[in-house]
Amino acid sequence: MQFVNDLDLKKQAKELGVKIWQTPGFLFIILGVITIFVMTVTYFISKNYDSPEFIIISESLVVVIILIIGNSVIRLIDQIIRLNKMKSEFVSVASHQLRTPLSAIKWETELMLSKFKKGLNKKQLINIENIDSLTTRMIKLVNDLLDVARIEQGRMIFKKSPVDLYKIVYEAKEDILPLANARNVEILLNCSKNIPKITSDAGRLKMVVDNLFNNAIKYTTNRGKIEIKLIKKNNSLVFSIKDNGVGIPEEQQGRVFDKFFRSDNIVKYQTEGTGLGLYISKNIIGQLGGEIWFQSVEGLGSIFSFSLPIKN
Ligand code: ADP
Repeated sequence: MQFVNDLDLKKQAKELGVKIWQTPGFLFIILGVITIFVMTVTYFISKNYDSPEFIIISESLVVVIILIIGNSVIRLIDQIIRLNKMKSEFVSVASHQLRTPLSAIKWETELMLSKFKKGLNKKQLINIENIDSLTTRMIKLVNDLLDVARIEQGRMIFKKSPVDLYKIVYEAKEDILPLANARNVEILLNCSKNIPKITSDAGRLKMVVDNLFNNAIKYTTNRGKIEIKLIKKNNSLVFSIKDNGVGIPEEQQGRVFDKFFRSDNIVKYQTEGTGLGLYISKNIIGQLGGEIWFQSVEGLGSIFSFSLPIKN
C-alpha cells in the first residue's frame, strides 16, 4: 500500500509543494527506466561481441551511470533532510523568542484584571479580558510549536515518577467543567476502584488528557454528553473519552494523528485549533510506552482511548 502511495506523483507533488518531475517518486521511476534501458542496450550490443573486455567495459559504464544518478538522488535527499532540520531549528528559535514577550503581556493583563479591575469601565474590562484570552491562545500555539520541534529533533524530555492517572483525569474534569456548563455538555466520569499508580510523566500525561477533554467539548454541539472511563486491564491502564459530537469523516480518519490535520466538517464552524494536539499526544503516549487510538462516526460521535503499561 505504501509502495502504491509512493507512486501517486500528483499527491506527492501537492504534499511537498514541488513540481511532479521533482518528486522522489518521479526520480525513482526515472532511475528504474534508465537502468532497464541501459541494461537492455548493453545486452544487445554485447551480444554482437565475443570479447570479455567489451562486456566488462560496457557493464562498468552501466554501473557508472547508475552511480551518477544514484548520487544525485542521495544529494537531493540530503538537501531535504538539511532543510527539514533548519526548519525545525527556526520554529524552535522563533517560538522561544515569542514566548518571552507573550508571557509578559499575559502577566500584565492578569495584573490589570486582578488588581485594577475596579478602575476599569465595562468596555475596558471586556477588551482586557479579550487580550488575556487571545494571549493564552497564542502561548498555547507557541508551546505546541516548541513541542513539535522537540519531537522532530528527538529532544522531548520525559521526567518519570509515580503518577496517579485518576487524579490527573479528575482534575482535568474539574478544570473543564465551566466550559462544559457554558456549552451545555454533561460529563460523566466512570472509574474502576483502586487504580494503581504508574511510572510515567505526570506533566506530559496532563497535556494529553487536557487535549482529549478539550476536543470532546469543542467538537460537541449543544446537549452533548461526554463519558470518561479509566480502567485497569491486564497490565495496563486504559483511558477512554466518548462524545456524541460531530465525529470525523471516514475518508479523513487515516490522517487524524498527522501534524496540522483538521477535518473538513469542523473547520467551517470551529476556527479555534491548530491540528497539533493529537500529533503531540500520539508522540507522548508512544514515548511513554503506550498506545493511542480512536473510533468515530460522522454525525454520531467519537471515542478516543489510550493505554499505558502499569510497570514501565
Ligand atoms: P485541534 O483540535 O487543535 O484542531 P487536534 O490535533 O487536537 O487539533 O485534533 C485534530 C483534528 O481531529 C481536529 O481538528 C478535528 O477535526 C479532529 N478531532 C479531534 N478530536 C475530535 C472529536 N472528539 N470529535 C470530532 N473531531 C475530532
